[in-house]
Amino acid sequence: MELDDHAEDLASDLGVDKEEVKSDLQNLIEYSVPIDEAKGSLRRKYGDGSSGGGSAPSSKEIGEITPEDGNVTVTGVVLTAGERSIRYQGSDHVIVEGKLAGETGVIDYTAWEDFGLSPGDTITAGNAGVREWDGEPELNLGESTSLSFSEEPLDVPHEIGGDAQLADVQTGDRAVNVEVAVLECERRTIDGRDGETEILSGVFGDESGRLPFTNWEPAPAIEEGGPVRIENAYVQEFRGVPEVNVSEFSTVSELEREIDVGTDSTTMEIGDAVRTGGVYDVCVVGNLIAVRDGSGLIQRCPECYRVIQKGQCRTHGEVDGIDDLRVKAILDDGTGTVTAVLDDELTEQVYGGTLEDALEQAREAMDQEVVADTIRERIVGREYRVRGHLSVDEYGANLDAESFKERDDDPEARARAFLQEIDGVDDREGVDA
Ligand SMILES: [Zn+2]
Repeated sequence: MELDDHAEDLASDLGVDKEEVKSDLQNLIEYSVPIDEAKGSLRRKYGDGSSGGGSAPSSKEIGEITPEDGNVTVTGVVLTAGERSIRYQGSDHVIVEGKLAGETGVIDYTAWEDFGLSPGDTITAGNAGVREWDGEPELNLGESTSLSFSEEPLDVPHEIGGDAQLADVQTGDRAVNVEVAVLECERRTIDGRDGETEILSGVFGDESGRLPFTNWEPAPAIEEGGPVRIENAYVQEFRGVPEVNVSEFSTVSELEREIDVGTDSTTMEIGDAVRTGGVYDVCVVGNLIAVRDGSGLIQRCPECYRVIQKGQCRTHGEVDGIDDLRVKAILDDGTGTVTAVLDDELTEQVYGGTLEDALEQAREAMDQEVVADTIRERIVGREYRVRGHLSVDEYGANLDAESFKERDDDPEARARAFLQEIDGVDDREGVDA
């Protein structure tokens, strides 16, 4: 939906002027407030009749709250509480986000007021707002919420605190603690919301995997290469994959122990991987069912490096294109499909030749499509194991491949082939057993 449609919706729901709602909405979006959150806060600002009502909100078990509940009263244990700064209507606002657990479930919350929440606190929140985020209910603790701390701790079957492994971290997670090695780190100057500012960006790794990060206020311990313990990081999507954000509210401390960064990536079914909305380092196995148009020998714009058609860049008009090789191949494992994107090096491997060879083949055939055809003949119908960064957008799921290997090419098969070679016999059964 376009911003205009969202504004229209809100305006008619709330019975207020559309232009006013739209400018508020635009403001929030500009500061990266997700659309649902932005709409939720405007509903609160203009007073949504559907969720207010006159009657007192009913008490609910956390596991029974649904996005349809307007306001509820809940009792639970604060598992995590992390501060974060957002800009709302032109001014910075510190909010606290985390998870609240009851005996029957866990729910994410956002506190718009400083209630002094700490992990381990048992609280009762009266008149907490419920909003929907990504199909799940979330709690809003605001001005109209009455909050009390209980002396008797509630016993919940969940661990208190936000310690996490990188492989389990997901977009939207708040108040996360990780212990990581700094695998890559560079200082960059960006044009932030308060003008030019210096940040660190790179890649963290732990025993479970790797994830990109941004450190908004450069921490020496990170820049020096770690390993570090980080408390109160939040996870936000950037370029389609989850990214660990280390903010001014995060604590960064040097870690005494070494981190043994795992080299294995998680292997997932394609359907599950796509449903996560984006994974930094993932492995999928599937049948290669098609090589898409725009594969093989292609030309890129020298200015923006995007692929061009017939010497025309959509942004820069007629340009002198740069020749390049790539493959966009559709992989299917029965649970879903993903487009694996192979860079020039991986494409040279599957093509079995260099860019010069491809140019030569195209010249001889007087048609550059022959390069894609050659690649099609070699890979379509085979099974591949692809590792890379998965991103999902409205056009589908792309897997930016770091490695692309035929399924048969596993160590066991290689060992078998090697044994056969030295034994000089084809004793398949003997090795298999
Ligand atoms: Zn261009």
